Amino acid sequence: MRLYLQQFLSVYILVLPALLPQGVPATVIINDSSELPLQSYDYIVVGGGTTGLAVANRLAVEYSVLVVERGPDLVDNEDINNPFTTYGTPSPCRFSMEGAPQIGSNGVKPMRLTYGSCLGGGSSINGLMGARPTFAGMNAVEALGNPGWGWNNFLPYMQKSETFTPPDPIQITEGADYIASVHGFSGPVGVSFAQPLVAPKMQGAAKSTVKSVFDDAVTLTPDMGDGFSGGHVASLYHHIHFNQTLQSDRRSSSAWSYLYPELQQRVGLAVLTGHRVNSLVTLKSASGNVTAVGVRVQPTSGGQIFTLDVSKEVVVTAGALYSPAILQRSGIGNSTYLKGLGITPVLDLPGVGANFQDQPYLVNVSFPLAPSNNITSITGGADTLVGVVVAHLTARNALGSEGLEQLRYFDVTMTDDDCSEGATEMNSLIRNISADKALSVGGVVQSQTLITQARLTADAYEIDHPIVEFFFNPTLTVLQVWAQSILPLSRGFIRINTTDPSEDPIADAQYLTQDVDVQIMVAAARVVSKIASSPPFSNLLSPNALADSGVPGVNATDDQVKQWVLSTYTAGIHFVGSNAMMPKDLGGVVSPELLVYGTSNIRIADASVIPLSVFPHTTLGLYGVAEKAAEVIVQRAKDEAHSI
Ligand SMILES: Cc1cc2nc3c(=O)[nH]c(=O)nc-3n(C[C@H](O)[C@H](O)[C@H](O)COP(=O)(O)OP(=O)(O)OC[C@H]3O[C@@H](n4cnc5c(N)ncnc54)[C@H](O)[C@@H]3O)c2cc1C
Repeated sequence: MRLYLQQFLSVYILVLPALLPQGVPATVIINDSSELPLQSYDYIVVGGGTTGLAVANRLAVEYSVLVVERGPDLVDNEDINNPFTTYGTPSPCRFSMEGAPQIGSNGVKPMRLTYGSCLGGGSSINGLMGARPTFAGMNAVEALGNPGWGWNNFLPYMQKSETFTPPDPIQITEGADYIASVHGFSGPVGVSFAQPLVAPKMQGAAKSTVKSVFDDAVTLTPDMGDGFSGGHVASLYHHIHFNQTLQSDRRSSSAWSYLYPELQQRVGLAVLTGHRVNSLVTLKSASGNVTAVGVRVQPTSGGQIFTLDVSKEVVVTAGALYSPAILQRSGIGNSTYLKGLGITPVLDLPGVGANFQDQPYLVNVSFPLAPSNNITSITGGADTLVGVVVAHLTARNALGSEGLEQLRYFDVTMTDDDCSEGATEMNSLIRNISADKALSVGGVVQSQTLITQARLTADAYEIDHPIVEFFFNPTLTVLQVWAQSILPLSRGFIRINTTDPSEDPIADAQYLTQDVDVQIMVAAARVVSKIASSPPFSNLLSPNALADSGVPGVNATDDQVKQWVLSTYTAGIHFVGSNAMMPKDLGGVVSPELLVYGTSNIRIADASVIPLSVFPHTTLGLYGVAEKAAEVIVQRAKDEAHSI
C-alpha cells in the first residue's frame, strides 16, 4: 500500500477533514480491498483513467470518494512517465482488444483497438498530442440538444484543467507560438511545447510545404487551442510539463496531474487499483426511476465479488469502450437484447452502446530520410514526439470546390420518410448517410439521429471546419506523415455478448461504412502523397521516398487510392459517442447534466458521452468534460444540502 505521508483512520475521513493541517497529503492508493478505509462512500468513480481521476479529485475536496480502477498503479514506470519513449512501446498499461472485423481492401480485415488500463488510463499511454475541440464542433454538440455545451461555455472548463507553459524565446524562434487568452495557467494538467523544441527544421519544412501545396489557403496559426476554423497548420503542444527536479520533460497524465502531486492530495479520496467494477447495484422506485446504491467489485485477476455502497452518486468513467458494457451488465440498455443474454432489464435505454464512433486513421506512412539528412541535421539531436506539426484541412482544401458542393447536400432538409423512400434529389453519396446502414447494425437508435448529426456536421463544413488532420512525426530514419479523418459519419456500436464481466464487449466502429468517409480518406491519402512530393519537405526525403512508402503516387486513380486506404487504415483510437449526450428520443443516454436518463444518480463523464466526433484529439477536451461534470455534481450536492 502506498500512502502520501500519512494515512488516516476511516473515521477521520468521514468526520475530520476540516481539522487536518493545511496541505497534509492523505490520498490512499491501495490494491488490497481489505485496506479500504470505508465500505460506503459519497461518490464511487468507476475507472481511474483520464476523466475519472479528474472528477474524483474535484469531488474529494469535500466528500468521500472511492475510485475503482481495473489496472495497476504505475507511478514509477519510466516508459510511461518519459514522453519521449517511442510511441507504441509496450507497457503494463497498454492493452488492445480484438474489435469487430472491418471493411478492408479484400473484404474484411481484423481491427485491434488499443486503450490504456492503469491509473491515468489513456492519458498514461497516449501520444500526448494537445489539440482541443473546435468551436463549431462544440456549438454543434450544443445544437444537438445540449444547452451549456457550446464553445463559449465549454472553454472555461478546459482552461480550468490546464497550466500552459508559454514557449520561451528560443522555442518561438524555432516555430512555437500561442494565444494566451485561450489558455489556463493554474490547472493541474501541464501543457507545453517540448523543451527543447523537437525537430525545428522538419517543423519549418512541413509548415511551408502544407501552405504552398494549398496556395496559402491553409494558413499558419499561432495556437491549436482557440477553437479554430479554416485550414491551418501549426506547431503542436503536448500534455507534458518540465520537471525542475529532474530537469526533463515528463508526461502529464491524469494521474500525474490530478492524483500524485502533493498539491492534489485529498483526505477523502481512496483509490482501489487492480479491481474491476462488474456492474452497478440499483433500486427501482414505484415510478420506475432507478437509483444506484453500490457497485459490484472483483479483483481483475479473479476472485471474490464484493459490494461497496454509495450514498450520493456513481460516476462512470470507464471510457467509451467499457462504460456501455458496465451499464449493460447492470441491466441498463436495450431490454430486448439484454433479455436474450439472460440479464433482467432494469431500464430500457437502447442508446447505450449505440452511436459509437472513431476517426479512421492512415498511420505507418513513413518516408525514408535522404542520406544527407540524418536525424541530427533535421532535429538538432532532439528526442522524438508524435505529431509535432499538425495541419488541418477543410473540405474545400481537401476535396476542392466540386467536392464541397457534394458535401453541401448534407444541408438538405430530410425527414425519416425522405430517407426511407430515398429522396431522389440527393446524390448517392449523401443517400448513403441515410441511417439505414447504421440502424441495421445497431449503430444508431433511429434514423433521425444520424440525419441530425449529419446536418450539424454539414453546418460545420459550411464554415470551413477542418475535416482531416495530418501530423508530422520525426524518427531516427524516417519522417512520418499520418492522416486522420476528424468528422466521420460512420456509426457503430459497443455491445456485451456474454454476462462474463472479464470478457471484452463487441466493439464495432463500422469504419468507412458511409461513402462520404471513404471519399474523405481518399482525399487525405492524395494530400499525403502531394506533401511528400513537394519541397521543401521532399528535400528532406530520399529520392524514392514516396515509392518506398507504398503511398499511391500523384497519378494513381481514385480506385487505386481507395484500395490502398482500405488496406492501410486503422483505428484512430479516439473512441467516443457510445453513451451519447443527446435527447433521449434521438437515442441519447445522458442529459446535458450527464445524468443517465431514467436514473437519479448515475452519471457518466468520459469519452462515451461525446455525441459527435468533434475532438481532433480527445484528451484536453475530456478534461473539460470532467471539470464540468464535477461542477454539476458538487452543485447538486450543495443544492440538496440546502434544501434539507
Ligand atoms: C494509444 C493511444 C494514443 C492516443 N493519443 C492521443 C493523443 O495524442 N492526444 C489525445 O488527446 N488523445 C489521444 N488518445 C485518446 C485519449 O487518450 C482517450 O480518448 C482518453 O484517454 C479517454 O479518456 P477516458 O477517461 O474516456 O477513458 P480512459 O482514459 O481510457 O479511462 C478509462 C479507465 O477505466 C478503466 N476501466 C475500464 N473498465 C473498468 C471497470 N469495469 N472497472 C474499473 N475500471 C475500469 C480502464 O482501465 C481505464 O483506466 C490516445 C489514446 C490511445 C489509446
